[in-house]
Amino acid sequence: MNEATLVEAFRGIPRRDSVRIGIQVGKLRKVCMGDQALEAFFPEALDILLRLFHAPAGAFWFRPFNATTLFPISRVGFEQLSLSNSCLSACEQMVRGAWQSLAPQVRPIDRSFVSLIGPIRDGSTSIGALQLVADSGGDKDQQPKLVYARAMAGVLSLIQPAIHRRMQVGETSIREATDRLAQLADQLTGLQQSMRHAIDQTLGQLRGASFGSLEANQQFTRVIHELLETHGLRVVCPECGAAAILRCSKNPRTRDGVFVFDHSVAGRRTFHGGYTTLPVLQVVSKPPRRGKSLA
Ligand SMILES: [Zn+2]
Repeated sequence: MNEATLVEAFRGIPRRDSVRIGIQVGKLRKVCMGDQALEAFFPEALDILLRLFHAPAGAFWFRPFNATTLFPISRVGFEQLSLSNSCLSACEQMVRGAWQSLAPQVRPIDRSFVSLIGPIRDGSTSIGALQLVADSGGDKDQQPKLVYARAMAGVLSLIQPAIHRRMQVGETSIREATDRLAQLADQLTGLQQSMRHAIDQTLGQLRGASFGSLEANQQFTRVIHELLETHGLRVVCPECGAAAILRCSKNPRTRDGVFVFDHSVAGRRTFHGGYTTLPVLQVVSKPPRRGKSLA
């Protein structure tokens, strides 16, 4: 597919922004022709692809040699999607179910989101997939599946050779390259774990602290919450063990307020605690959101 045809393929994609398609397609072509290593190529290409497809999230997945399943190698935007955890894992399942297809797959996720899966192949072998979650903004029956599939096919014809070329640089074979990428994915998981451990340790050391005024205590709990939110974490309520948000509430008996754990217990917003100094803070993964489920 030449550049003009690819630009044309993107014209029908629903969007509420004013991305200049011609410019973005040109950028994508430039990134594909460039000489950055795979590790840099993936995020750069994703950045442009998200704009082109009006997609808030996307990922490149690869299957390491000898592994039976795929791993996400470069992944952006999923944490910010307004989708429940069950919906997000359904999206992952779509990738695992569709990456070996011959043609791009387009599947509705909910009212406005649509999942696009572009199988990445090396000759007759499936080696990975490009996954995008596009915001079509409309009714799922109105989602222009053919338009998405055509644009995805055009994109694949551009990025597949770019990926192959980078996987075969020097002595590196596709097998070695996918192994290297799998190691990178392992390292990222390891980093996330050590980050969580570091947060856990630091919070543990704050036991017994208070910051001298209601405002300071509230400021502190906001900072903690923002930090935890960035990493998809919550604190454990020492009373019931549930994942909670630490807050500092006004209290008539103590000038600096009391630390409470804000969570939902049996479906109702509940506050536990009432400590004048910080109790032991332990971190835990944020529980799945309620409400929105896979349509
Ligand atoms: Zn509790």
